[in-house]
Amino acid sequence: VPVTRVAHAANARLVGAADARARLLTPALLVEQDVLDANIAAMQARCDRAGVALRPHAKAHKCVEIARRQLAAGAAGLCVATPGEAEVFARAGLPDLLLTSTFAPGPALERLADVATLCRLTLALDAPQTARALAAAARTRGIRIPVLVDLEMGRHRAGAEGPQAVAALAGVIAEEESLVLCGLQAYAGHLSHQADARQRGLGAQEAAARIHAAREALSPFMGDIRPAVTGGSTGAFVQELASGVYTEFQCGSYALMDVEYDLVDPDGSGRPAFPASLSVAVRVTSANAPGLATTDGGEKRFAAKHGTAPRIMRGAPAGASYRPSSDEHGTVTLPEGARLSPGDLIELEVPHCDPTVNLYDFIHVMQGDKLVAIWSVDARGA
Ligand code: PLP
Ligand code: MN
Repeated sequence: VPVTRVAHAANARLVGAADARARLLTPALLVEQDVLDANIAAMQARCDRAGVALRPHAKAHKCVEIARRQLAAGAAGLCVATPGEAEVFARAGLPDLLLTSTFAPGPALERLADVATLCRLTLALDAPQTARALAAAARTRGIRIPVLVDLEMGRHRAGAEGPQAVAALAGVIAEEESLVLCGLQAYAGHLSHQADARQRGLGAQEAAARIHAAREALSPFMGDIRPAVTGGSTGAFVQELASGVYTEFQCGSYALMDVEYDLVDPDGSGRPAFPASLSVAVRVTSANAPGLATTDGGEKRFAAKHGTAPRIMRGAPAGASYRPSSDEHGTVTLPEGARLSPGDLIELEVPHCDPTVNLYDFIHVMQGDKLVAIWSVDARGA
């Protein structure tokens, strides 16, 4: 067993054990299988009812096994965020991927063209020179690559800025025999964590107007093909569904969930639309100071966007709070009179799922107290 996989080896002995939860070597990343499967089914059902395809974003979990479960539940394919993720998922045999990020000409483009020989890989473009370079790379390999025009939606991260730029880029793509123009990518990232549902609704309408104009500009280059419009997030999908412009959703976090998304109430029901299936299990290592306990889950085990704290799901008294307080240690602050002891297991909902998963090699799959499997975070670091 390679040294870096020691933690896995220790917990591998527990696969199948009915009391594995109590015996886990920590810190360990856990997923509650029944909650995960329910979340996957629930988002798929909402998309099916609306007649919108679901292409879940695999950057949330980076895990081939979870991707396969999403496909089995009815997903049209998977999204990936980086050329490395595209390569890992393609080599694992996933047949249909969309890279939602634009990419640099040069080594990344060449790598992607190689991946496009392994599976159907759709790429997002926002620059004529990248389109021409990709067309040349596809020609060299004797393949045709499906592409989308990426549309700028407000964050100025990427995307063609307005209908004229969309038409200009579509014109370049249409001239290239080795590229197949499939539609638009219109990911409105600024809406995903907008806590106010009314603002989110207004934002989704504004986004829809922007998309309509871009689609008009694209149509002359699409012949009889109805342009695909792909985008959407776990936070805004209800409003984005209502806007009616999307043909495909890219939501990712819904399967795992996190504290930052708990603060967003997608459908105005007053609670998160999806419960968290993901957690990190830590153990108390010291508890000598009154009102405090120290655990083995520090800053290296949690990633957050805005300093959000992990949320205690179980294992600590009501009223306790948690804060990663140094590289390898976390601090539990306890209510008056409460105590924890060395060895106590605490399970924490993670602040932000995508970058937290990327801190772990393995996902421990739990059903109650039983460890049913250990899945690899296949695209970790990729
Ligand atoms: N699509 C793109 C391009 C993204 O960058 C993201 C998240 O950052 C998503 C979709 C949606 O992911 P989530 O549902 O996790 O917000
Ligand atoms: Mn995220």
